Amino acid sequence: MRGLSGATMSAPLGCRGLPRRAVGGGGRAGRAEAERWRRAGAGRRLVDRMVRCVATEKHDEKAGAAVGVEFADEEDYRKAGGGELLFVQMQATKPMESQSKIASKLLPISDEILDLVIIGCGPAGLSLASESAKKGLNVGLIGPDLPFTNNYGVWEDEFKDLGLASCIEHVWKDTVVYLDGNKPILIGRSYGRVHRDLLHEELLRRCFEAGVTYLNSKVDKIIESPDGHRVVCCERGREILCRLAIVASGAASGRLLEYEVGGPPVCVQTAYGVEVEVQRD
Ligand SMILES: Cc1cc2nc3c(=O)[nH]c(=O)nc-3n(C[C@H](O)[C@H](O)[C@H](O)COP(=O)(O)OP(=O)(O)OC[C@H]3O[C@@H](n4cnc5c(N)ncnc54)[C@H](O)[C@@H]3O)c2cc1C
Repeated sequence: MRGLSGATMSAPLGCRGLPRRAVGGGGRAGRAEAERWRRAGAGRRLVDRMVRCVATEKHDEKAGAAVGVEFADEEDYRKAGGGELLFVQMQATKPMESQSKIASKLLPISDEILDLVIIGCGPAGLSLASESAKKGLNVGLIGPDLPFTNNYGVWEDEFKDLGLASCIEHVWKDTVVYLDGNKPILIGRSYGRVHRDLLHEELLRRCFEAGVTYLNSKVDKIIESPDGHRVVCCERGREILCRLAIVASGAASGRLLEYEVGGPPVCVQTAYGVEVEVQRD
């Protein structure tokens, strides 16, 4: 890539959805995934026992240590990232000290019944929380107090419409798409790379101004109380009551959702890429 000074670029290397048959059956892809599952140390579900699973693939000590996770069954393993689990965890634990702590910006959640609880503090969770609170709802945000670590590339016009143009750090005035062969297709739409820190700060500012409150915790489950409220069960036994709970926990969302019996299988899509620093020539 030329003409950029000290810029970071991301290039996705892989992206896939796994149909249910890809685990434990159904052709070469299925056997490969089943083998990965087996190598990760997981076994069959025994009644309601949780299976301790430690992935064996290791890139470095820190990432390897982060992989020890418990899975209820194969589906649970797939919802957490499946064969890409290590990469999902490496991505989530990238150091980003330059971003503010959410707890330093938002007031703590109170014990009253909230109108809405948003689970997950990624771009989706923060945006939904601030926009809902602006409409007058009493909104609580729950999730680990982590920085934005992913790469966000956006259509410039869409980000402008959201009032987020100032969070774009570089714009490419046209976008080239390659489908089959090497023939470039110019699509006449500009594409921007988002500055993670600026986006995080801006969305936090919007949450603060709209009065969103915050709890730094993972959510274990959501249950319905007899009076129709949702009970959001958090770490250390803390329970938050609300009228509506929305799951915005990204790739991990599958773990908090229950699908109807016989419904479509959960799919996982992961993308991971490389970030490279390039010199202006
Ligand atoms: C390498 C890479 C490159 C990418 N490139 C692009 C790109 O170029 N353009 C683009 O548009 N998108 C890209 N993406 C995708 C983009 O990152 C996601 O679309 C975006 O982050 C989704 O936002 P989100 O808020 O839905 O989820 P996330 O950003 O995943 O946030 C989910 C949040 O939920 C929290 N959470 C998880 N479990 C729980 C729980 N049990 N309780 C409470 N909180 C929980 C997590 O800690 C996290 O903070 C890329 C992703 C990766 C990994």
